[in-house]
Amino acid sequence: MEEVECVVVGAGVVGIAVARALALAGREVIVLEAAGTIGTETSSRNSEVIHAGIYYPRDSLLARFCVQGRRMLYDFCRDRGVPFAACGKLIVATSESENDRLAGIKARAEANGVEDMRLLTAAEARALEPNLVCTAALSSPVTGVLDSHAYMLALQGEAEQAGAVFVFHSPVEGGRVGEDGIEVVVGGAEAMALRCRVLVNAAGLHAPALAHRLAGMPEQLVPTAYFAKGNYFTLSGRSPFSRLIYPVPEPGGLGVHLTIDLGGQARFGPDVEWIDRIDYNVDPRRADRFYAAVRRYWPGLQDGALQPGYAGIRPKTVPPGAPGQDFTVQGVQAHGVPGLVNLFGIESPGLTAAIALAKHVRDVASGR
Ligand SMILES: Cc1cc2nc3c(=O)[nH]c(=O)nc-3n(C[C@H](O)[C@H](O)[C@H](O)COP(=O)(O)OP(=O)(O)OC[C@H]3O[C@@H](n4cnc5c(N)ncnc54)[C@H](O)[C@@H]3O)c2cc1C
Repeated sequence: MEEVECVVVGAGVVGIAVARALALAGREVIVLEAAGTIGTETSSRNSEVIHAGIYYPRDSLLARFCVQGRRMLYDFCRDRGVPFAACGKLIVATSESENDRLAGIKARAEANGVEDMRLLTAAEARALEPNLVCTAALSSPVTGVLDSHAYMLALQGEAEQAGAVFVFHSPVEGGRVGEDGIEVVVGGAEAMALRCRVLVNAAGLHAPALAHRLAGMPEQLVPTAYFAKGNYFTLSGRSPFSRLIYPVPEPGGLGVHLTIDLGGQARFGPDVEWIDRIDYNVDPRRADRFYAAVRRYWPGLQDGALQPGYAGIRPKTVPPGAPGQDFTVQGVQAHGVPGLVNLFGIESPGLTAAIALAKHVRDVASGR
């Protein structure tokens, strides 16, 4: 059987960043990806926002890796020529009762280490964004957007330069924890088996299913997979705003917000639709709820201006209505299998956090 030191399953942004971190640490790495190229699932079905780290519970992995990862990501983009814009974001209150919540959001952000948060009056917010209707706002200037594909390509290039090998059309079907490493069974046209010392399960939506197919991984520690789809609607014409606009969060989500891509195209979403199988179609009827929500802060939205866009699916480890989840990074200390690292529930801000998260995974893979 062929031997390799480290196998990473999945070439989404997290798997690529982990491969890079391991390879830069001098380890031999193969990335096995089921699809024909990098980033075809959640990593290319998101808002491409560089999140500041505002809402996450203090001391959670979400907060820690978002703030660290965001700083690393801006440096990475600057150094490697990855297109990005630090356009900033406004969280907008549309009633007096919501005004009071902005101070709480600001306090939480500051506890997480988010820089330069500032409360704005309605007039100050309108001076920045004349099309906006609000009663007050909270400004986060360190929030931005990036070209996620260029980012992944740059990470992949560095991983390969450091010796990592990416193998596509290679679905990992399962494996077995043995005496002298973990055996990995690979399907596809080039079906094969490999033995490795380190196995990183970065299979995104499929990570729990893959963990179940690893004989020797304690079943009871694999979380149930829940899927929360996020649908987007795009706006025809130019964006009415130059910053990202978010309402005050509502229970279960961030509310229907506006993000802008680097080309200036505005889109609204993602909403939250719990589903039981992977399906990326956007139901045009969901637009009705978007019009109502968006008009609270942008009454100028015209009938017929929203078109169904695309959808992504959040890899949840908790069911609807449960308290929020944290990133789960399961190493030997959690499950007892040396060298195995399972990544579960890597939803937003996974794109922002990837470089910081990958360093942590590298350390967990070494038993630290
Ligand atoms: C709607 C939505 C909006 C988001 N917006 C943002 C945002 O604006 N900013 C932000 O920071 N984050 C955002 N996120 C989160 C971010 O997109 C994800 O955290 C991140 O992309 C997860 O990357 P990943 O590599 O873990 O998973 P994925 O990108 O899903 O990659 C997993 C890979 O594993 C492969 N794979 C699966 N099973 C196997 C197998 N058995 N064998 C081989 N390969 C396999 C898949 O083909 C896939 O390529 C958003 C997420 C969603 C759903």
